[in-house]
Amino acid sequence: MNSSTARLRRLDGDHHFHPYTDARAVERNGALPIVRGEGIYVIDSEGKRYIEGMAGLWSVAVGFSEPRLIQAANKQMEALPYYHSFSGMTHPSVTELSEKLVSISPSGLSKVFFTNSGSEANDTAIKMVWYRANALGMPNKKKIIARKNAYHGVTAMSASLTGLSKNHMAFDLPFPIVQHAMTPHYRADSGVSEQEFTHQCLVDLEVLIQREGPDTIAAFIGEPVMGAGGVLPPPLGYWEGVQRILRVHDILLIADEVITGFGRTGSMFACTTYNIQPDILVLSKQLSSSYQPIAAVLLTASVFQPIADKSAEIGVFGHGFTAGGHPVAAAVALENIRIIEQEDLVGNSRRLASVFRAHLEALTTRPEIREVRAVGLIGAFEFHPDPRTGPGAIAAAFRANLLERGLIARNIGDSIALCPPLIVTETELDGIFEIIRNALDEFLA
Ligand code: PLP
Repeated sequence: MNSSTARLRRLDGDHHFHPYTDARAVERNGALPIVRGEGIYVIDSEGKRYIEGMAGLWSVAVGFSEPRLIQAANKQMEALPYYHSFSGMTHPSVTELSEKLVSISPSGLSKVFFTNSGSEANDTAIKMVWYRANALGMPNKKKIIARKNAYHGVTAMSASLTGLSKNHMAFDLPFPIVQHAMTPHYRADSGVSEQEFTHQCLVDLEVLIQREGPDTIAAFIGEPVMGAGGVLPPPLGYWEGVQRILRVHDILLIADEVITGFGRTGSMFACTTYNIQPDILVLSKQLSSSYQPIAAVLLTASVFQPIADKSAEIGVFGHGFTAGGHPVAAAVALENIRIIEQEDLVGNSRRLASVFRAHLEALTTRPEIREVRAVGLIGAFEFHPDPRTGPGAIAAAFRANLLERGLIARNIGDSIALCPPLIVTETELDGIFEIIRNALDEFLA
């Protein structure tokens, strides 16, 4: 280890309280300093290269060294490094980005509100839903339905929407105003057909709505494809059925496309892939390729109008963030979307989806692999649970083995998730799976 790495690791261990980390383990073992990025690669402080098979945190669509995004940030820094949109002010980047998002998003969405993170955006969406219910004289229609294994973030409200126990334990969450429906994870080895399973999910949702009282439920929130919960594409007919039920009970649909937005599933938005017509759409991550922190909440007119009326009555919509719609973040997001369009990264995701899936499916011939899941350029393979090591242990060790071999992936339960940058090529995908196959051969032996 060179002296600069040793210093970084020591200082980091002493002073940096890491998110999503065992705080004692990182004090003991230190963290891995990443110092540069190039295309689909990142490079650590010792010069070792890794394929970023997770695009950072499911987010760096255009790769790690895109000069156009650096130029866009510099240009905006020089012109106007900061401004806000409170109290009737605005700036060109946020205006242009609003128009762009409305023009490319599913039809009906016409207004955009900006935050700095996906968590804040989901929090904001829920506050808007509550504000609207009050505006419409329905103060009891406030409950939110999310799903077990969902991931919607970590602020107190968005962590309540999240359906993962580690985001609730010791935090006194979730808030009881959130109820979780069952996880729509179909398993071919479950003994029921996919159609029957979808039916079970819909019955579970209907029963939950009846138990809570349809008049008390304001919204349902869902990721079109569950991401951090394990990469779970929906079973056949699921979204059609969910939307049918929500319409009957006048429950709004919030689509959380923080991971799936901007081409991940092979369409610009997964709402198109799965024929979802959301009332509210939440975007972040690939919105700016995470070069800058930014997220967006898009609303239909029927969601926006009552909120606007209420804000006129009160005199203000009392919600907003100092850095929401930050000019540098907005300028970078705009340029990032232009790159995604001009380089046809959505098309790349769609075209390479079959290659990606074929590589994953080839792994199912191995007895250790229970199932694989994929849509577009997001996927996972799952190990059979091993009673000797306990849940998640093999995947955690396998992820560490891949890291040694220069591939960054994520372990989720017994699964290994992959979500490469959208610029990935077929040859690079072949390389990723060669590493995985070699690792499986040697690690499992
Ligand atoms: N929603 C989804 C679907 C996510 O995957 C994430 C983060 O991974 C979030 C929301 C939260 O976003 P952030 O980490 O920017 O708060």
